Amino acid sequence: MRIALVAAQASPLALGRPGAGGRHTHVAALARALGRLGHEVRVYVRREDPKPGDQVEYAPNVTVEHIAAGPDAPLPPDDQLPLMGDFGRALAARWGGADTGPDVVHAHYWLSGLAALTATADVRRPVVVTYHGLAAAERRHLPVDRNGGPGPRAGLERTLGSLADRVVAQSEDEVTELGRMGVRRAGTVIVPSGVDTETFTPSGPAADHRRPGLRRILSVGPLVERKGFGDLVESLRRVPGAELVVVGGPDPARPPRDLDRDPEARRLLQLADKVGVADRVRIIGAVTQEELAGWYRSADVLACAPWYEPFGLTPLEAMACGVPVVAYEVGGIGESVIDNVTGVLVPPRDVKALAGALRALLGDEVRRMSFASAAIDRVRSRYTWERTATELERVYRTVTGAAATSEDEDDEALSEVS
Ligand code: UDP
Repeated sequence: MRIALVAAQASPLALGRPGAGGRHTHVAALARALGRLGHEVRVYVRREDPKPGDQVEYAPNVTVEHIAAGPDAPLPPDDQLPLMGDFGRALAARWGGADTGPDVVHAHYWLSGLAALTATADVRRPVVVTYHGLAAAERRHLPVDRNGGPGPRAGLERTLGSLADRVVAQSEDEVTELGRMGVRRAGTVIVPSGVDTETFTPSGPAADHRRPGLRRILSVGPLVERKGFGDLVESLRRVPGAELVVVGGPDPARPPRDLDRDPEARRLLQLADKVGVADRVRIIGAVTQEELAGWYRSADVLACAPWYEPFGLTPLEAMACGVPVVAYEVGGIGESVIDNVTGVLVPPRDVKALAGALRALLGDEVRRMSFASAAIDRVRSRYTWERTATELERVYRTVTGAAATSEDEDDEALSEVS
């Protein structure tokens, strides 16, 4: 199948750079996994750097194509709405008529979804969309000044949901959110993201020696307040004998910036000072996926305390490395982490409960070992990219009308005979 992944705001080539996050990881790994299944995959991204050529061979059967729309410089994702018309028209021009171009278009993030609709307006091609976060949910969970404000996003996400041929939700929680928005359940399918189980493995080098006598709590993600690193710093007061290591780069909405001058990094260090844990908090900045695997392996526990998280890749990456998770029970995390089996879930924004869970788990080696092996099993059985790509392949076949497998054809032949 010829598959177009439209990911204007999530180039696989940006993976590991400041500003890249879960969407980048997802698109890159999905493209590689579909390529391994033998599909011809093209990932369409917005040109934000004049250097790379129009087409870059990224992996076997996968090409990244740069589309010019707006300045060839990084722009905050949510400033790109006015550029999506041009982006979509440029895609249509590149694809040409009905006999050329992709069989199916899979868009990632609402803005790329709009570009995909523009691109397929004249020459129809099935459009599948994965939102990677919904404005309506963010508005409910995040304070008014940090949820992007009213703006057109929520309305456009609803329109996108009604016009796309399929909406891919990544969790039951997202299905509920989509239902609240009025997106038809029949047009929605759940396919959770995978984890790169070749990079994130239990064995391999571990990062940086820990300070003698201290357990390591790791937390990973972009340095934005809603990721809840502040709650972790506060909780550390009640978790003696442990250090908190935060790995992640500057805010993707305002990349790239020096870690020293990053307002969130400074806020966290000031908070650590205020609550008397400054000597046990370290902020590392953005690292590559390979380096990140080493940080996971070095940890006794992964702590994940976001105020809201549509899916949450970092708990699964940690689990793939055999690290138990303590997390707020929000969004997709409540489904990927099994309470008391692969980690501990606590109510969101409850710093006391968070500290209690961390203290108890860090003090119980046997429980940690049992969570670690259950975590590895869970990832290997449910969250491989092979599985995600195969399930999406089925979705693509359904929307392109190529769903009939030889088994279906046999069934049809039998019903005609009887
Ligand atoms: N990540 C990375 N380097 C870093 C920090 C994070 O490559 O220094 C990746 C991490 O592996 C994960 C993603 O960024 O795949 C974060 O995804 P998540 O879903 O946890 O959060 P999001 O970025 O989508 O808010």
